Amino acid sequence: MKYDYLIVGAGLFGAVFAREMTNMGRKCLVIDKRKHIAGNIYTEEIDGIYVHRYGAHIFHTSDKKIWEYVNRYTEFNQYINSPVAVYGDELYNLPFNMNTFSKMWGIKTPAEAKEIIERQIRKAGIKEPANLEEQAIRLVGTDVYEKLIKGYTQKQWGRKCTELPAFIIKRLPLRFTYDNNYFNDRYQGIPVDGYTKMVEKMLEGIEVRLETDYFQVRNEIDADTTVYTGPIDEYFGYTLGHLQYRSLRFETEKLDCENYQGNAVVNYTAADVPYTRIIEHKHFTFGKQPVTVITREYSSEWKPGEEPYYPVNDSKNTELYRKYQELAEQEQGLIFGGRLGQYQYFDMDKVIASALSCVESQKK
Ligand code: FAD
Repeated sequence: MKYDYLIVGAGLFGAVFAREMTNMGRKCLVIDKRKHIAGNIYTEEIDGIYVHRYGAHIFHTSDKKIWEYVNRYTEFNQYINSPVAVYGDELYNLPFNMNTFSKMWGIKTPAEAKEIIERQIRKAGIKEPANLEEQAIRLVGTDVYEKLIKGYTQKQWGRKCTELPAFIIKRLPLRFTYDNNYFNDRYQGIPVDGYTKMVEKMLEGIEVRLETDYFQVRNEIDADTTVYTGPIDEYFGYTLGHLQYRSLRFETEKLDCENYQGNAVVNYTAADVPYTRIIEHKHFTFGKQPVTVITREYSSEWKPGEEPYYPVNDSKNTELYRKYQELAEQEQGLIFGGRLGQYQYFDMDKVIASALSCVESQKK
């Protein structure tokens, strides 16, 4: 069998690309080395609860076309992401807003909150931040930094904030309204039947082979063009070295209780709690099941062979990625796409936009 496109990876990028090309009459084969489709947005059903296996995923976008696009494949609910943060025995709303400030300082008005923050920033007197700690204090003052940023960031990066460069944090938005909606986007929600069904619908009528590693079958499949959504450095056998990532470890547990924490996302911001957050999956879909499933999320150092999550886009890795891109440009009939192929953190809406623009480039 001869294919127009071999698509490596049944994640969001691969599924959107395959769908669009199939709609245009092209013959596509999608392969994935995992046992399931949907890549990192995979949700598995446990007792009627959709569990986000590779980390909590909330769909949000300001792009109306992308919102209409995903709504063709699933129905979204009205979920609004409003995480809370636990620091010792204190609990605060996120993102940093008037609910947070009011609880922290017992104040009511934006003027009072601004006055406290500005006073703390003035007192710290940081002009040229030498590290992440100084940068954060310069932006939000000492209280918000100490309680809500310091320990969490330290766990995320596995290093003290004084040892991290200032540029990691460019902005720390402060909201002087009583608004707990984490995202500023116009459209937001969670698929009522989980993300896996959405991707299943995208892949309807397309040949998909699971548990199929590209490197084991590359010589057996005849395709004009390969769209590769795995890690770009792996494709080239790491000849120039390994790109680095931050990784995550998930500890998932089913609990015999109806409601464990009352919210889908609870961040743990103190350094002495080893996990960064606990996800209670049923709250993403307003589940009423008698049991619940929670996931503790730990941030971890990435080693080759482990699941890569967040690319480390520092100058060293960006330079290495650029060199791999140069190798990629010399190949005929090969496209690199998605978060691993392009070594970039993409939200889901951006990955869809990127796949659709890749489809457009194929029309030329
Ligand atoms: P993937 O989903 O990783 O798909 C790539 C696929 O390629 C995988 O299934 C893999 O098995 C397969 N593959 C790799 N190598 C091979 C090979 N050699 N042979 C065969 N198959 C191979 N975005 C949001 O919009 N909202 C969120 O709330 C959000 N939360 C996130 C939370 C976390 C912890 C992370 C890490 C990301 C989050 N994202 C979120 C981003 C979202 O996960 C990505 O946008 C999306 O998953 C990218 O899809 P992809 O197709 O590029 O990659």
